[in-house]
Amino acid sequence: MVELERRYEHFCVLTQNVDGLHDVAGSRNLIELHGNIWKLRCTQCGRVRMNRDVPLALLPYCAECRGLLRPHIVWFGESLHAEDLSRSEDGLRSCELLLIIGTSGVVYPAASFASVARAAGAFVVEINLERTPTSALVDVSVQGRAKDLLPLLL
Ligand SMILES: [Zn+2]
Repeated sequence: MVELERRYEHFCVLTQNVDGLHDVAGSRNLIELHGNIWKLRCTQCGRVRMNRDVPLALLPYCAECRGLLRPHIVWFGESLHAEDLSRSEDGLRSCELLLIIGTSGVVYPAASFASVARAAGAFVVEINLERTPTSALVDVSVQGRAKDLLPLLL
């Protein structure tokens, strides 16, 4: 993914993963739709900061305002961050190619990304171990491991 970003100026990664591995690998144009478990967000002032301390203090507090800190991830029942959604929609409506890689295609809003991009004229490719509900909505669906297929794209 990092190599694709290096080659294509407007390449962007939209991920549902919260493990932060895209960031560690070097992806810079990155939207972490469900947040990043290695970041903490203040419940009072909203400040977000990276944290690699393990284990955390039982109740970690913000150094700036003393508000309680929480993981900077989206829990079930919470809304995605509006800015992330807006940036994602802008990318989906303007991209020429959308690669959908390694997702079940059942968690919204990401499950709608194929339809949004195709309606805007993008060519959509799914790469996944097995067919998903998204498979019928894309131009090409390829079954296999991303680690085997992505190097072939390069
Ligand atoms: Zn704070």
